[in-house]
Amino acid sequence: MLFGVVGTQGVVEPLSRPIPVRNELVQIVRKSEALAQNLRFAAPCVEGRCGQWSAGRCTVPMRVFEQLGKSDEGRLSWCGLRPECRWYAQEGLAACRVCPQVRTHVSDALETGEQHASSGGENV
Ligand code: SF4
Repeated sequence: MLFGVVGTQGVVEPLSRPIPVRNELVQIVRKSEALAQNLRFAAPCVEGRCGQWSAGRCTVPMRVFEQLGKSDEGRLSWCGLRPECRWYAQEGLAACRVCPQVRTHVSDALETGEQHASSGGENV
């Protein structure tokens, strides 16, 4: 799913609702680093079948906190992915405070579900 676009401030701005993505768009984005850097994708979490999963958790948020810090302060945007988001389920609103600064690694997000999880069956 496509759920955000990088805005003029360089942070991800969420779409009003996540959009399922067709394979044609996946192929286009894979060929364009600029698109990959400016669109934010999510895929269903595959838990133990993902290399980012350890000890029953997604390890990506912890690595993001190490780089960006973990804070209880800051503006929070509405996010259509929140009800299904693995990062939010694990880390709460602290994840949402750093999330807009994260860029998707396209191959991970599209192929392994490394990005935020949606528990539904929709895939990108
Ligand atoms: S971490 Fe928060 S802002 Fe980011 S996708 Fe999940 S619910 Fe949305």
